[in-house]
Amino acid sequence: MSAEPTSCYICEKLLAGGTTRDHVVPRQLFNPQELPQNLLTLPTHKACNLGLSLDEEYFRQCIVALAAYRNKLATGIWKGPVQRSLDRRGQVQRHMLAANIQEAARRVPFYDDSGQFLGFGSEVQFDAGRVKRVLEKIVRGLFWYHCRLLIGDVSFTTSFVDPTSADSSEDEFPDLKDQSREICLEGGVLRYSFRLCDDSPSSSIWWLEFYEAPRFVILTLCNAI
Ligand SMILES: [Zn+2]
Repeated sequence: MSAEPTSCYICEKLLAGGTTRDHVVPRQLFNPQELPQNLLTLPTHKACNLGLSLDEEYFRQCIVALAAYRNKLATGIWKGPVQRSLDRRGQVQRHMLAANIQEAARRVPFYDDSGQFLGFGSEVQFDAGRVKRVLEKIVRGLFWYHCRLLIGDVSFTTSFVDPTSADSSEDEFPDLKDQSREICLEGGVLRYSFRLCDDSPSSSIWWLEFYEAPRFVILTLCNAI
């Protein structure tokens, strides 16, 4: 088993030229005064790391906004680092947050690959794929962490499930959830579980829950088959 990937875990091209270490779970999701030791980092191209930095800030604003006043850690980050960041950035991003993300939530049915109805949940369409790009990066990093392989050429499908909806409990996915691994990570910022397809591990399903509130379901489908 390799301790480190020899390719960038974000773009999967060989590491060469300017490289740096990237926090798989973005460090700005943590309270800077209580930053846990041993956060998961992996080597990346500097350009890949830099290319996601604004998306990660946007991601933090969305995630923390959804969890603030329901989760103590998220509330602290919302009142502190997020507000300071918004004050610095001025009108454009303040306007972006003024539109309440939760108002965009809509009730949708979920189905598995065979078309079987799994239940209702709420889905939010996030802006411009930015949240999705960060979630995909996190899944890529966690896949390396657990499998010691880069996930390779996969398609991602990402859904948001609002856990405040009465009918969006984990029971929505009974067949899959029972077989998944449950993992807690990183001081209350992220809880996640996943399941790999037996004959094609890079086809997988991931549940990511930030600050015990915003929850995402991410499917990866191997394109090599
Ligand atoms: Zn790269």
